[in-house]
Order: sequence, then C-alpha cells, then structure tokens
Amino acid sequence: MARAAERLSENAPGPFFVDSTCIDCAACRIIAPRHFRRGGRGLSIVHRQPETEPEQTRALMALVACPTGSIGTEPRRDAAPGVAAFPELLDEEAQVYFCGFTAESSFGATSYLVRRREGNVLVDSPRAAGPLLRRLEELGGVRWMFLTHRDDVADHRRFRERFGCERILHARDVGAGTRDVERQLEGDEPRRLADDLVAVPVPGHTAGSTALLYRDRFLFTGDHLMATEDGAALEAGRDVCWYSWPEQIRSMRRLLHLRFEWVLPGHGGRYRAASPAAMRRELERLIAAM
Ligand code: SF4
Repeated sequence: MARAAERLSENAPGPFFVDSTCIDCAACRIIAPRHFRRGGRGLSIVHRQPETEPEQTRALMALVACPTGSIGTEPRRDAAPGVAAFPELLDEEAQVYFCGFTAESSFGATSYLVRRREGNVLVDSPRAAGPLLRRLEELGGVRWMFLTHRDDVADHRRFRERFGCERILHARDVGAGTRDVERQLEGDEPRRLADDLVAVPVPGHTAGSTALLYRDRFLFTGDHLMATEDGAALEAGRDVCWYSWPEQIRSMRRLLHLRFEWVLPGHGGRYRAASPAAMRRELERLIAAM
C-alpha cells in the first residue's frame, strides 16, 4: 500500500501519487502514459493527474497492476474500476488479453491470456490476485501456462493448483522453483504445440528463453524482444542479457523466418506493425543496430 508520507516530491499536485518504493518496472508508464513517466530519480512519478472518468480508470489500472503497491491516492479512491478493467482485451478477434496484476518477483513483468476454444493459454505468471483468478475462471480457466523464461514464473504454482493447467518451460531455464513443471521443452528448433501455437526457442536473455507464436500474428517474447515504452520501435536489452548477447542476436535473426504483426513482451512496450512485412523491416533494423 503506497504511503502518502513517502510520496515522491516530483509527483504533480493532486490525488494520485507514486511513493519511494517504486522499482521502476515501467508497468504504470505503459498502462497510463498520459499520467505516469520516469522522474529524475529514475522512479516513476505522476506527471499529469487524471481528470476525466476514463483517465481515472486508466490511472487506477496502473495502481492495481503495480507490483509493489507504490501508487496511491490521497484521499483514498475506490480502485474497483481499475480491478474490473483486467484482463484488458487487446485484440477482440483473436481474444488476446493483458492480465495486469503484475508480480514483484517477476519485477512487474506483463502476462497475457489467450482465449481459445481448444483451451486458454496464460503466457507468463501474473500475481495470483483473487479478482484476477475469478475473472480467468469466468473466461474459461487456463489449460496451458507458457513460461517464456525463468524470471517471469512468479505465482505459477498457484495457477497450477487453481486451474490444473499444464506448465511449459524450456529445460535450460528449469530451476529449483520450477522442477515440477509438467512439460520441459528441449533444443533450439521451433516446436508446434497446437495448430495455432508454436514454441520458438530464442536463447540469449537466458539460455532457455522461448517465444510463443500464436496464429502467425502474435509473438509473445518474454524479455528477448520488446518495444520502446512509447511503442514506436523494437529494442532488445543488452544490459539485461544474462546469458549471451551473440546468442541473442542469432535468435533474433531466426525470427526473420516467422510471420507476425504483434510483439507482446514481458517487459517494455508492445509493438504492432502494419503488416508482417513491416514487422520484418523493423526487426531487420533492430538486428543491424545490435
Ligand atoms: S508500476 Fe509501480 S513499481 Fe512499476 S514503475 Fe510504476 S510505480 Fe514503479
């Protein structure tokens, strides 16, 4: 729970504020960029107070999603509209949702729900918050939990217990906390999990990093590939590459053989290209810069 006494001085005057416990995960800035930005101390601040009702809901979504409870309101506001907004539909036709409710143990990583007739897929682990669990149940539960890499596994056991989902993680990223996952992927070759789902190993950020391609349109990339926070361009984080940067560049080149229009990462901004060809051009630009 954010504390007004710890309110960062750079916050704009008004009810919403960020306190000094912020870990700079960027979730609030991606959810509500009109209201949150990075301040001089490298932590998020409220730079413009929300005024209209839609703006207030957006700011409350950031409050709910914050992994450390670092966003508060003074006087206290009811966060119900922010809670009710998750999971947030990103694409109606494909039924792809952003879960919100990020977990501190995943450093505020983003997780997604793919709603499918053949069984829903949860990509990476959100915080196992009661309202989210209930909403996921209403949306059909979780059949598979696809873990893109070892860092963003958060509350995976709670989701397994609640939904009986099969957890999938590359064997190279399995550790003490994930030895009980039901399915371990092997090797570096893409592997079809279902007609519309392909697991694509992308070693680099970690040895077992794996992207998930859905319907040849959506690529869930974990921390391998992301956009700038404003969603204007693709980028990759050399300063957060824990395994091998040359390997990450090789993995990036392999993505040129895939067809997709969306990049949905664990951290960083989302990127949507006008077409698969436009995505390929942007990816080529990034690879040249790596
Ligand atoms: S979501 Fe919370 S922890 Fe993350 S940058 Fe915003 S205020 Fe900081």
